Amino acid sequence: MLPVVQLKGVTHAYLGDREASLAIGDLSLEVEQGEFVSLVGPSGCGKTTLLSIIAGLLQPSLGEVSVNGRIIKGPSPEVGYMLQQDYLFPWRTILDNALLGLELTGNLTPESRQKTLDLLADMGLAGKEQAYPSQLSGGMRQRVALVRTLATNPSLLLLDEPFSALDYQIKLQLEDLVSETLRRRGTTAVLVTHDLSEAIAVSSRVILLQRNPGRIRKIFEVPEDIRSTPPLYARDLPGFAELFHEVWKEMELAGREEQ
Ligand code: ADP
Ligand code: MG
Repeated sequence: MLPVVQLKGVTHAYLGDREASLAIGDLSLEVEQGEFVSLVGPSGCGKTTLLSIIAGLLQPSLGEVSVNGRIIKGPSPEVGYMLQQDYLFPWRTILDNALLGLELTGNLTPESRQKTLDLLADMGLAGKEQAYPSQLSGGMRQRVALVRTLATNPSLLLLDEPFSALDYQIKLQLEDLVSETLRRRGTTAVLVTHDLSEAIAVSSRVILLQRNPGRIRKIFEVPEDIRSTPPLYARDLPGFAELFHEVWKEMELAGREEQ
């Protein structure tokens, strides 16, 4: 089957007034249908740049990016993007915020509206439809942002540290909810996180990047038993700590080589 994401020799330089900096150097990667992969690595290794490129918000200096076999030239409704900040509009109700993507893409119908209401209920937000963002907790707002992203039914979901601003307990609950929801819908996802244990708990592959320029250091396959267990419980499985240390050691090694 065609990979959902295909990166071929992606290179990206940011051009400043005086100098150019190479954020990503010759990176190739494929993500298969239904996969949940995580990108981890030190700050500045190009994680956000890479997601922006896949989202079509940034044109790479060199190389090719395709989603579902089509070369990406700009943002597309096929790709959902969720950030650490929820970017909900304070003057819109929760439901109206959740419907925003459908509105903007001209896909708001009684049916898609009902599906969004169902999704809000799935996310534990029933009864909050007419509330305003300021009346909700951070974890709830992030769930609204997720509903808004999923409402347009993207085949690919890009998540840039969506849980990192949340309290630990809320973050664990949300990891479970998101991984279960994506699994059920068969949505392919790429998650950026600086939390190695989160990466291992939610994904099927952990892609470790290193910097200057940003490139793939090593790819770790997550064993099937960890993969198929909800993130909260996956952390207690026997192989979890071993894999954590393996990724950690490799990251340290990369850090030492940099100096
Ligand atoms: P990460 O998300 O892994 O922390 P980024 O993709 O944000 O990394 O950044 C990768 C590199 O590109 C860093 O060296 C960063 O300073 C640089 N960079 C990121 N955004 C810009 C920008 N808009 N202009 C210039 N340099 C940038
Ligand atoms: Mg970043």
